[in-house]
Amino acid sequence: ELDGASKEEDVKPPPLAGVNVMNIILIAAECAPWCKTVMSGGLGDVAGALPKALARRGHRVMVVVPRYGNYAELNHTGVRKTYMVHGQSIEVTFYHAYIDGVDFVFIDSHVFRHLENNIYGGQRLDILKRMVLFCKAAVELPWHVPCGGVCYGDGNLVFIANDWHAALLPVYLKAYYRDQGLMKYTRSILVIHNIAHQGRGPAEDFSYLDLPDHYRDLFMLYDPVGGDHFNIFAAGLKAADRILTVSHGYAWELKTSEGGWGLHHIINENDWKLRGIVNGIDTREWSPQYDVHLNSDGYVNYSLETLQTGKTQCKTALQKELGLPVRDNVPLIGFIGRLDNQKGVDLIAEAVPWMMGQDVQLVMLGSGRPDLEQLLKQFESQHNDKIRGWVGFSVKMAHRITAGADILLMPSRFEPCGLNQLYAMNYGTIPVVHAVGGLRDTVQPFDPHSETGLGWTFDRAEAGKLIHALGNCLLTYREYKKSWEGLQRRGMSQDLSWDHAAQNYEEVLVAAKYQW
Ligand code: ADP
Repeated sequence: ELDGASKEEDVKPPPLAGVNVMNIILIAAECAPWCKTVMSGGLGDVAGALPKALARRGHRVMVVVPRYGNYAELNHTGVRKTYMVHGQSIEVTFYHAYIDGVDFVFIDSHVFRHLENNIYGGQRLDILKRMVLFCKAAVELPWHVPCGGVCYGDGNLVFIANDWHAALLPVYLKAYYRDQGLMKYTRSILVIHNIAHQGRGPAEDFSYLDLPDHYRDLFMLYDPVGGDHFNIFAAGLKAADRILTVSHGYAWELKTSEGGWGLHHIINENDWKLRGIVNGIDTREWSPQYDVHLNSDGYVNYSLETLQTGKTQCKTALQKELGLPVRDNVPLIGFIGRLDNQKGVDLIAEAVPWMMGQDVQLVMLGSGRPDLEQLLKQFESQHNDKIRGWVGFSVKMAHRITAGADILLMPSRFEPCGLNQLYAMNYGTIPVVHAVGGLRDTVQPFDPHSETGLGWTFDRAEAGKLIHALGNCLLTYREYKKSWEGLQRRGMSQDLSWDHAAQNYEEVLVAAKYQW
């Protein structure tokens, strides 16, 4: 569903970009609502939401994305171009849509078509060729695709390239333009959403890129463990003017040998241009006040003003819907997420015997690894008066658990940004999290002396640590009602919106422009 203009009506416009109004072109392999995958760490959502927030600040913003399917409501621009990729000439055309102040430009070619459900699929070299074509076309786009009649050109222009798929763009900008004295003031920013995919291959892959020979070394990674190889992300990180990632904590982890997935040396060398910015959330879809999943079946919308009665009513509705004993004074603990090693479901499983010795209710929603799905069902049948294990993907249940639970568990082993802890805080649900990546950035630990902080954290992914943190959280829930309400209110009062994140992005764009 596209964000309708009317939805924004009562959102206060943020301060405008003023003298630093820029032309911004964001390049991504996926963009919601047209195409979005679960394995990319939310890239599709970022590409759908961040540009609109930047446009609201007064910038001229374009998103460039491949056209994988027959998306409705796009206009053909009539522009045709041909690019050579590894000796093969490939024709591309461009589609355009102007939505919520943003130019969405879709690159159409037979190499992208019919990939809707498998956009990263295919043989390695086919994927490489697609990304070469994508970046070659994208870097030239400001010159020949008119949007609203006028091309962007290179005045105050900055590219925001996302992940390895777009990491060739900073390299092409340099090799094709800046090295020739062209587009001298155009900047490129490379954003890391997921470091696990890097565009690795053997050294011969370089011949596919159509770059001068002296660029070869930019791509070579001399890796004593994995062996010497060709690496697109490595080259992009070196060529970009700035590097961004989705949290400060993840930026730090990328510099370690465990977190950098072989690229930590390069990230360390380029530390000066690295920064972490936490993603925003869609505060329409995920706010207790407007949540459409809370206006039936006994649930209610609520806000800071109606927090206590509203949240209690949602909790009752959740207990009823799930067939748990309806009680207000029992802490209801939720978990939502992919059932896999990353999300630390096994740590919760290990802590279940301890939890069952407490007066609590536990609701887990997730899908993924069959053995973990089985485990959820088993817990439910073993502890039918206390546990619900909902196996499947249900957006409605995710919203209702977020509203009805008192506590959200997030023991992820790694979490570049993480969204569920942000949603939880927006709903007055207290997060208990492993302090990594974005979780560490966003959940400041509760300090009972100064009555500050937003939740509980633990510093190692171990069941004992989780139990310790959860134990303290439960104690506060039972014994210190005022502190609990303070935690809820602080969480709900934060600005977690994309408007806030866009302001941080803008700072980086401006710094890159003047090369601070
Ligand atoms: P990741 O992108 O690593 O899976 P995030 O916390 O960034 O983790 O985002 C996960 C998103 O997927 C959240 O919006 C969450 O509510 C949703 N989600 C995960 N599992 C389920 C599920 N089983 N049913 C409904 N929504 C889910």
